[in-house]
Order: sequence, then C-alpha cells, then structure tokens
Amino acid sequence: MKSNELEKDQLYKLRHSAAHVMAQAVQELYPEAKLGIGPPIDTGFYYDFDLGQGEDGKPRTFTPEDLEAIEKRMRQIIGGKHTFNYREVSADEARELFKDQPYKLELIDGLVQGGIDEYGNETDETPVISTYRHDAFEDLCRGPHVEATNKITGNAFKLMNVAGAYWRGDENNPMLQRIYGTAWRNKKELKQHLKMLEEAKKRDHRKLGKELDIFVFDEEIGPGLPLWLPRGGIIIEELEKLAKEMEQKRGYERVRSPHLSKEDLFLRSGHLPYYAESMYPPMEMEGVRYYIKPMNCPFHHKIFGARPRSYRDLPLRLGEYGTCYRYEKSGELFGLMRVRSMQMNDAHIYCSEAQFEQEFMAVIDLYFDYFRIFDIDKYMMRFSAHHKNGLGKKYVDNERLWLQTEGLVRRAMDNGGVSYVEVPDEAAFYGPKIDVQVWSAIGREFTLATNQVDFAQPESFELAFINSDGQEERPLCIHRAPLSTHERMVGFLLEHYAGKFPVWLSPDQARIIPITEAHNEYTLQLERRLKEAGIRTKADLGTDRMNAKIRQAQLMQIPYMLVIGDREVENNTVSLRRRDNTRQNDLPVEEFIATVQDRIATRSGEL
Ligand SMILES: [Zn+2]
Ligand SMILES: [Zn+2]
Repeated sequence: MKSNELEKDQLYKLRHSAAHVMAQAVQELYPEAKLGIGPPIDTGFYYDFDLGQGEDGKPRTFTPEDLEAIEKRMRQIIGGKHTFNYREVSADEARELFKDQPYKLELIDGLVQGGIDEYGNETDETPVISTYRHDAFEDLCRGPHVEATNKITGNAFKLMNVAGAYWRGDENNPMLQRIYGTAWRNKKELKQHLKMLEEAKKRDHRKLGKELDIFVFDEEIGPGLPLWLPRGGIIIEELEKLAKEMEQKRGYERVRSPHLSKEDLFLRSGHLPYYAESMYPPMEMEGVRYYIKPMNCPFHHKIFGARPRSYRDLPLRLGEYGTCYRYEKSGELFGLMRVRSMQMNDAHIYCSEAQFEQEFMAVIDLYFDYFRIFDIDKYMMRFSAHHKNGLGKKYVDNERLWLQTEGLVRRAMDNGGVSYVEVPDEAAFYGPKIDVQVWSAIGREFTLATNQVDFAQPESFELAFINSDGQEERPLCIHRAPLSTHERMVGFLLEHYAGKFPVWLSPDQARIIPITEAHNEYTLQLERRLKEAGIRTKADLGTDRMNAKIRQAQLMQIPYMLVIGDREVENNTVSLRRRDNTRQNDLPVEEFIATVQDRIATRSGEL
C-alpha cells in the first residue's frame, strides 16, 4: 500500500470510529432513537437515525442545539479512552442484541440470507455477523476501527448538518435523519477543511456563473439545459480552439455527426439496452424510431466503417465537439456539473493491438499537457475494471476480452510509470476505463476526464482493417475526452480560478475607462486598435464616475483596466491597472499590446 492510501486507511478508521461514538451519544441523549447505518465517507462520516414522528406527524429531526449537545457528549466519550472490541456472533445472538433496533434486524436478515453487507449494500463476500463494542455501545459492524476512542482527536471533528435520507435509499421506506460529521487527525486539518468549504461556497460555479454572466437556466427550456451567454460563449470557443490546436498537432482529424439516429444504430452499439436508462425516450417519424444521441461513439464507428481501411489508415483519430443528451433524474441535476445537454471534447482512436500502448499513453500525455495549461497540479488516475458478476448485465459478455484489454491498460500505465488506483466493477459497459480526478486550486475533487478502451463496439460494428499481411484484423477503439464536457470544464474552471480566468480565457480582456468625456475620442481609437490586435476590449463611455467604472470592471474580473486622461492622450500611452491591483503608468500602447498578445499566444497564467 502506498503512503497516501495508508493515511486514507487511518482516516477511514478514525471516521468510522467517530460515527460509532456519535451513535452512542445520540442513543444516550435520545433513547427512543432507532439506528440505521453509519459509514465513513470522503471527508468524514454520517449516521442515520429514526427519531419517530413529532406531533405534526412528520419525522422528528435534530436541531443545531441537539448537534451541539451530541458533540459535547462525543468529546466526553472520546476522553474516556474506551477500546473498540470486535466479536463474531451467531444470527440468534445478533437478533437478541439488537432486538429493539428494527433497522439492524433487517440488516441481520440480509446478512443471514447473504448478498448484502451490514450497510445494506450488495456484496458477494460470505457474510460474517460481527459487532464492534466500545464503552456500553455495541454496533453491527465489520470494522475496521481505531484501537480506542481517544485516537479520535476531540478538537478535530465537527458535526456539520442534518439531512433527510430514506432508509436504504428507497423513497418507499421511512425517512431517517442523517447527521453528517467531518473528522480529521488534528485541529489544523479540520480548520483547513472548514476554510476550504467556506472558500468553495464563494467559488461555487452556480454563484460565479451568474455574477460573471457566463450561463443561465431558463424554466421554459427546462432543467439541466444551460444557455451560454456571450461571455460563456467566449470561454467555450477558447477551449475548443485549444483542443483543436493540441489535437491537430497530434494527428487528430475532425468530423461532425447528427444529433439523432435511428434506433438500429444504438441497438448495434449496445447503448440499447445497456445505456437505455440514461437516454431520452424515442420519437417516431415515418414509422421509424429515432433516438437523440447520448454519445458520439456509434457515429464515429460508422465513419470508420464508411470505407475499407488498411493498416496505413491507422491509427485513425476522429475528433468532434459533439453535443450529446443524457437523461439525468431531476433530483441529480447540479448546476453545470450534472446536466442533460452537454458538448463534449470527444474523440475515438482506432488502432491495432500493436499500436495500442503508444496510442493510449499519448492520450495520457495529452491530459498532462492540459493539466499544465490549467495549472492543475493534483490529479489521480482511477482504473475501473469489470466485475464478473456483471457480465451480460452491466457489461458486454466476453470475459476473455475484458481480461485481455484490462491487461493492456495495466501494462501501458505500468510501463509509462503512471500511478493509478484500480477499482473493480466501475467499467463502462463496453470496456475498462481510466477516470481522471483532479483537484481544484482549493482542493475540491472533480472527475473531469475519461479514457476508455473498447473491444466490444468494434466487434458489433464489424469494424476491420487489412493488416500488413493482407489479413483482416479488428481494431481496438479508445474513447477519450480530456477536456470533459464544456459544461463540467467551465464549472470546474470557474471554481479553480475563482472567476479570475487567465488572460487567454477571460471573456473581456481589457476595459478602457476615460476620465472625462474629453477623452472619449482617444478611448474609441484605442478600442479599435486593441480589437485589431486580437484583444477583447470594450470602451466604457457610460455616465458613471471613473471609480465606479473601475469597480465594475473589477467585479467582472477583467484582467486589464486602461485609464485614459490628458497625459495618455498626449503621449499615446495608457495608465494600466491590473486585476490584482498592480499598476503601471505611462505605458506605451504598443508595449501593452505586445505583452497581452504574448500572454494570449502562450496561454500564460501571468497577468
Ligand atoms: Zn461500524
Ligand atoms: Zn465514445
């Protein structure tokens, strides 16, 4: 295990233990509470409780004062240095132990029947009924836990909030009260985390998107279908320009495909039935069923197959900024992060097995190039493999090819020295995939890009090329989208840069502000010169006072403000104020233009 995984493991135990301590505190303070489940999660833990119904017939919940009281009692329990003790119990013993806990009894039934674990999740491990006990509290649990309660740092955890959660995620079940907590190794880590959450709130892409005029949603258009405003449109065009440049250098060719297709195409691709849940219902035209596309892949496969191919055509790299539509449940929509229409930086690379490793690693290298441009220094590659239980259901039913392609990916990543974590049962239906997780400047995690290997669709589309021995051979297909969708990418970048986009991505690059009307003429001349030099510029000839105009430009995070007075008119200069409040007076116009052009051409992060 690598050191950061070990740390994760330690934190995992600590958070899991904090969940038990919280459940004990709740049970002592609210003896009528029934316990659901309480696992550790990414930055902390939660536990679900049923407090019964209030007088109004609605589920009772916890107040902020309740959380304070629970926290206080938790600190006392932690201070008690109670050890966590494991034991295995028989089904009868377990039922006796938890006789007053209906939810636990349901979990015990599941464990006895097999197929689910103590959190109610499906599993194919042989169930063992076990408990962990500390102090007077015993929970149905597999662990692991820290040795004793005092390993949880009393001033490094905090109960965050309460949310309703249906028992086992099913809305036909009772609504339980889920208390979320966060727990860290020390006070400093907790402080950092809370600070990050606060910063994340300020940088929330939904908030910034509105303030900076990037995108809107409209009720008449529908949820999850964003409208890009002109300033958002510029960011999108810059991203596309970047991708086209990068991919042109790497031998990609660009294609275009329609938004609709007959059902037949998706039956052949396997999207029907494997992906049907994420697709919009079909529409009928002239007695034929059409679907709106959830992915571009099948169209690109048809382009590959549009004419006979030989080994000289390979690798064939087909790229497209295609707009796809996916049905996300309205409850799961979230700003630009989860939408129903998305423009993807998509491409499909068709290659022989012998070319696979090089092509696959070239894609990984492309990711690294993008990371450098966007100043992303923390990222992780997650390798999602299939699981044999899902063959024929979640996954295309060909175990031999699954094992073979997973082996190819593993070998490519190992040979390339790229570190990754492997997770079973998370693959795409047609092959294994690499998900790229990145962390924004304030340390929030995003799944941005994917890189998938596909052996199944080339087969179902009967794609073939004539190899150098004159034999027919099946190509492999790599699906990749390093810049993700525009929606997700812009959402990520808004947070990452806190709206302060680098010059090349800034919707407005310069704003010219005359001190009085007398400077309007020079201001307009200057606006024309900057526009001709390829700098996105607006002259602000409004009636507001100069300071108000500067403030307005600052609020819009415009990198450069050029203030024009008598001296500037006379000397053909500008008085420059940068977004970061640094200034430069008497700057010759040509010098300003040259600097900005250089920032844009090199896609520099510097102001
Ligand atoms: Zn537990
Ligand atoms: Zn694809």
